[in-house]
Amino acid sequence: MTGGAGFVGSHLCKRLVEEENYVLCLDNFFTGSRDNVAELLDNPKFKIVTHDVVNPFHTDVDEIYNLACPASPIHYQYDPIKTTKTSVLGILNMLQLAQDNHAKIMQASTSEVYGDPTQNPQKETYWGNVNPIGTRSCYDEGKRVAETFCMDYFMQYKIRVKIIRIFNTYGPNMDMNDGRVISNFIVQALKDEDITIYGDGSQTRSFQYVDNLIEGMISVMATPDSFIGPINLGNPNEFTILQLAQKVIEMTNSKAKIVMKPLPQDDPKQRKPDITLAKKIINYNPNILLEEGLKKTIAYFEMLLSKKAIIKRI
Ligand code: NAD
Ligand code: UDP
Repeated sequence: MTGGAGFVGSHLCKRLVEEENYVLCLDNFFTGSRDNVAELLDNPKFKIVTHDVVNPFHTDVDEIYNLACPASPIHYQYDPIKTTKTSVLGILNMLQLAQDNHAKIMQASTSEVYGDPTQNPQKETYWGNVNPIGTRSCYDEGKRVAETFCMDYFMQYKIRVKIIRIFNTYGPNMDMNDGRVISNFIVQALKDEDITIYGDGSQTRSFQYVDNLIEGMISVMATPDSFIGPINLGNPNEFTILQLAQKVIEMTNSKAKIVMKPLPQDDPKQRKPDITLAKKIINYNPNILLEEGLKKTIAYFEMLLSKKAIIKRI
């Protein structure tokens, strides 16, 4: 797995090891950390190697999950050239590895390939509305080219590829300073700091708890070789960002106030997956409601903040 020390990757590593697989995790630790996979470090079925996916890697594998790429806007915009290279060269190197090993490969694509969508919900057949020269383009276009490479390797070399389009996912192991909306709001609420809504909060997102995503990823990997995708993996329950802020404040009993900040460039106004295909192909059932997932995520950040407070006191 590439990007296995990140938020999603750490959950997937854990699940795959629990299922008795041998997992080799490649990561450059740009946004990931060894802490996320601490409980696996002594497990003989797990190995972690510092490697940047823009460079080729050679080993023996039978399945590849390609997750390496910063996913939050502040991180992927920090060095946009590197972000595009990570997506494009990363998948190219992994497709080459798949070809050398006759391995199956899954690409972690994203709802961002739909850009600022003019259709809601988004079906896999929608080609998207992406600005190729904006501040989000390094991520969106990088991921789009990665999908193109997957399809080209499938068509030209019959490589067994699976493309999943992940919609906003959250849960424990998100980085506290990650900048994504759920981690920001929870940490701000727990510290009674201002809750920063970008724009007027009327933009929508549909939030999926990480356990549902992991289930979906494992199931898609197990589909017959004839299934390539792309396939949406997300929770179709749509909320405005203002509704999310209010829910987090209520659930944390916070004294935090909502403040409005400027909306970043090309911020999608709406996002909601059409999961008809996922239901049909893998019987996908993203059944964890926002409130239930938020409860677990709030508990995780409470634990992190209290650990930090103890370290400060020491
Ligand atoms: P994350 O930032 O927590 O994890 C990304 C991991 O990739 C980190 O461990 C990071 O260190 C590693 N990485 C980054 N660049 C690398 C490079 N050049 N070489 C090696 N490793 C590198 O993000 P995440 O939320 O866990 O996302 C994982 C994947 O899922 C990403 O590809 C992302 O685009 C995709 N995705 C996630 C979401 C979401 O809501 N979490 C939504 C859509 C798509
Ligand atoms: N957002 C916000 N305040 C924050 C962080 C994000 O209002 O502190 C908004 C952001 O502008 C976007 C939505 O929340 O409209 C989701 O942002 P995130 O970065 O989590 O995901 P993405 O935009 O990639 O879907």
